[in-house]
Amino acid sequence: MLRLTNVQLPLDHPEADLSAAILARLQIPAEDLLGYTVFRRGYDARKRSAINLVYTIDASVRDEALVLARVQGIPNIAISPDTSYKFVTNAPAQLPLRPVVIGFGPCGIFAALILAQMGFRPIILERGKVVRERTKDTWGLWRKRELHPESNVQFGEGGAGTFSDGKLHSQIKDPKHYSRKVLTEFVKAHAPEEILFVSKPHIGTFRLVKMVEAMRETITSLGGEFRFETKVTDFDIDHGKMRGVVLESGERIAADHVVLAVGHSARDTFQMLYDRGVYVEAKPFSIGFRAEHPQSLIDRARFGKFAGHPLLGAADYKLVHHAKNGRSVYSFCMCPGGTVVAATSEPERVVTNGMSQYSRNERNANSGIVVGITPDDYPTDRGPGHPLAGIDFQRELESRAYVLGGRNYDAPGQLVGDFIAGIPSSALGSVQPSYKPGVHLTDLSPSLPDYAIEAIREALPAFDRQIKGYAMRDAVLTGVETRTSSPVRVRRQENFQSMNTVGLFPAGEGAGYAGGILSAAVDGIKVAEAVALSIAGNTDVR
Ligand code: FAD
Repeated sequence: MLRLTNVQLPLDHPEADLSAAILARLQIPAEDLLGYTVFRRGYDARKRSAINLVYTIDASVRDEALVLARVQGIPNIAISPDTSYKFVTNAPAQLPLRPVVIGFGPCGIFAALILAQMGFRPIILERGKVVRERTKDTWGLWRKRELHPESNVQFGEGGAGTFSDGKLHSQIKDPKHYSRKVLTEFVKAHAPEEILFVSKPHIGTFRLVKMVEAMRETITSLGGEFRFETKVTDFDIDHGKMRGVVLESGERIAADHVVLAVGHSARDTFQMLYDRGVYVEAKPFSIGFRAEHPQSLIDRARFGKFAGHPLLGAADYKLVHHAKNGRSVYSFCMCPGGTVVAATSEPERVVTNGMSQYSRNERNANSGIVVGITPDDYPTDRGPGHPLAGIDFQRELESRAYVLGGRNYDAPGQLVGDFIAGIPSSALGSVQPSYKPGVHLTDLSPSLPDYAIEAIREALPAFDRQIKGYAMRDAVLTGVETRTSSPVRVRRQENFQSMNTVGLFPAGEGAGYAGGILSAAVDGIKVAEAVALSIAGNTDVR
């Protein structure tokens, strides 16, 4: 099989042009092309008047060696890599202790799935409820202002990405093609097949719920065991070695291989790790607001006359501005045609984030507009450089947002025009914000530190130069966006085990090793392999 990259054709090209382009690139007659598949389809919209589709093709040809010799030196042709997944080992016939996976978000799902597929029969402990019940609780905050601290957008089966846009692209280096394994497993669990070949795949909330259930069933059928509404509240660590996990009920489960895939919002668990002496350090993250614009404005700015084309879908964007005060402002977790969601997991706090359905056909585009911060910015109440100071900072900002929003889980909001001019907003314009339960118009400047407000105020007009209309007066900002990534890193060694706790495998976004669904899932695979090799190394492999 030969891989052809960067095959460019106009957006509305006839189907036959693709095979013609393949034949031309390979310099072969039609009868020598035995077949082809589209490995990836993206688009190049840099020139709005002439948007091109960009294909990566796997072509099967007669006499591959001959063709390859003939096209040697021509760029963008090579032998297709083998992207199939290969298990690193199998479980021993006698498994001394079953591995434990804490958390069933994307990282825990893939750690558990890979371990189960290798025969390790993992035990999965998840503090939240099964996804159907969790969905009801999550809507409880959005519709009735009722927060369930253990069952919400952050906690429960499926993890933080369940009520999301389900974007599946990532910038991670992936020489072993683990992302292919993730996408293939998602398709087996009823994700749309196109995620295997479109360049920026997304799934949307409703389908994610069904996929999570399907993956749970697969893991169960392979011998995995699930315990929901089961929070791990303590570790049994003996002389630096993991011996077991302790549940909120007081029950102890013996375990010497524990995957810690708890996500970035498990603040009580991070405190427990710190108290138990597990090596934890503060790490940078970002803070800001969610911005909402009409999706039609973004579509026109990005796609011009091709706005609304079915192969392009709702347009996304990626923006960065380096402010004069040294801060970087950037768009984060952009959701085309989606809604802004209430994403707190703690009472009397307000956090924004974004989600969408597969169709991405809601009226507004939303995105985090956030400013990068570092541990130097965190409060020093617990002493300078405290590992958990980032959590204190998040809590402080989320509490301020709760008060500014009117103390009823409404998000504080302001029109972009008023925010730039530095005046409070009192009435909405043409853009209706989508955040539920509601938005309380105010002045957002007290919600974040001055340096962040200054940087965002400077960035919005700069973004308008890239997307005409971005700084439109009526666009709406809601706050605060604080759960952008983990405020801590549970540092691990090259063998994926904690710096000072043998048998503890920190993983995924909460441990500071991933950011997003795909990278968390890929990290879950890597950690599962490390766990499997560690167990198999000490025992006879089946
Ligand atoms: P999580 O998904 O956070 O899972 C951790 C799990 O551990 C949770 O289910 C939690 O209940 C459980 N847990 C925590 N503590 C304990 C404990 N002590 N005992 C037992 N269980 C515990 N990313 C994208 O790539 N694309 C998107 O479109 C996208 N949209 C998002 C939209 C929203 C609203 C949110 C909140 C996030 C979004 N993200 C998106 C980010 C993405 O969800 C995360 O990066 C990803 O879920 C991290 O995976 P994880 O498995 O590491 O952690």
